[in-house]
Amino acid sequence: MASLSGTSDLHDAAVSKALYVETYGCQMNLADSEVIVGALASEGYRCVEEPEQADVILLNTCSIRDHAEQRVAQRVRQLIALRRDNRRVRIGLAGCVAQHRREKLLETIPGLDFVVGPDGYRRLGQLLAADEPVADVQLDRRETYEDIAPARGEGVRAWLTIMRGCNRFCTFCVVPYVRGRERSIATDVLIADLRRVAEQGYKEVTLLGQTVNAYRSGDVDFAGLLRLCNEVEGIERVRYTSPHPADMNERTIAAMGECAKVAPYIHLPVQSGSDAVLEAMDRGHTVAEYRDLVARLREAVPDLALSTDVIVGYPGETERDFEATSALMEEMAYDHAFLFKYSPREGTRAYGTPDTVSEEEKGARLERLIAEQEERALGINQRLVGTETEVLVESTAKRQPDWLAGKNPQFKTVVFEPSGARLGELARVRIEAASSHTLRGREKQ
Ligand code: SF4
Repeated sequence: MASLSGTSDLHDAAVSKALYVETYGCQMNLADSEVIVGALASEGYRCVEEPEQADVILLNTCSIRDHAEQRVAQRVRQLIALRRDNRRVRIGLAGCVAQHRREKLLETIPGLDFVVGPDGYRRLGQLLAADEPVADVQLDRRETYEDIAPARGEGVRAWLTIMRGCNRFCTFCVVPYVRGRERSIATDVLIADLRRVAEQGYKEVTLLGQTVNAYRSGDVDFAGLLRLCNEVEGIERVRYTSPHPADMNERTIAAMGECAKVAPYIHLPVQSGSDAVLEAMDRGHTVAEYRDLVARLREAVPDLALSTDVIVGYPGETERDFEATSALMEEMAYDHAFLFKYSPREGTRAYGTPDTVSEEEKGARLERLIAEQEERALGINQRLVGTETEVLVESTAKRQPDWLAGKNPQFKTVVFEPSGARLGELARVRIEAASSHTLRGREKQ
């Protein structure tokens, strides 16, 4: 969960109603919160750091896992209880949980004032003016918010949402139902925004989309967009997330290899190492196709770092299927992996399919993959000891305030003893130690 405190201009706004936003889930949601704050800034809202200071409290929610939904419901009830003495404060839910549960939320959470889905943010001002609890959960095939300037937070990294929605309907996933169909933002709008981002001092951009590499606007496909972003002066690194393996093509692979600013890192969800499970999930590719794709990426980008998502215990996953996943993870040598137990999500195609793997077994499979991945990541990182890397400095190190921290091109966290580098700069660092999640080193003189 992240709270958004917005930009200093918003804090300085003369006319102000206080807005507190808490964000759950993925980077798309974080970027959406910036759109929400941007949209409400024009209605006289400024961000505050604490819910107690707010006239409006908004939780921008994630509904990918049941656990996330439960956490949000608990948190919103807590905030409503806090409000007891101050009836003026309006509390609402935005994002995927809002879209998934819709009006039901107003019935089941007494005191909730408004519910707004991912396509309703430009009407938030009207919702806040309503006297009664109100919901806006219409999906809109054309909504991209391309005319709303996001209120970006401070830092070196900006997010740029380039497309919204998903057309794929993987059987376990709620996204197509809560975020609607794919639509891309016009290329000229994106490049103008990226130039502004560079002028504001951001050094790195992450292009966002649910199936980000399905981007297309007129003649410009995702590979073309990467090449255009690579030309923007002031931007040092271009990243993107999350691509779908079946939307990857030679043009994108070539752009990754040829564009100096496009970072050598890809998060490529595989979900399972078994063809039977991939087919049951309707992922649109086989294990062999995924393997071949990774080989082509590595050929084009030799220092590529690779991460993935895996779901264990999907209905029908046998011991053999699971072993195939474990083996594929070893073969792919993932630098990092987000590992989850399958849980049925209401409204998805898989909902109602008998859950054939017991919770206990799912837990055991998950634990094994986590242990294997930790060991793998440690080995990969330890092999980097003695090498040099380039770090974009983001902050001081949490545990050693006289050290600095940032990401290297492969998106690994590096903490290091500086010898002159400052926040926002690129530093050459020699790696001296490694754990499974962090590299430690010293800045080269
Ligand atoms: S590609 Fe599949 S997993 Fe990804 S958002 Fe679309 S439906 Fe969900």
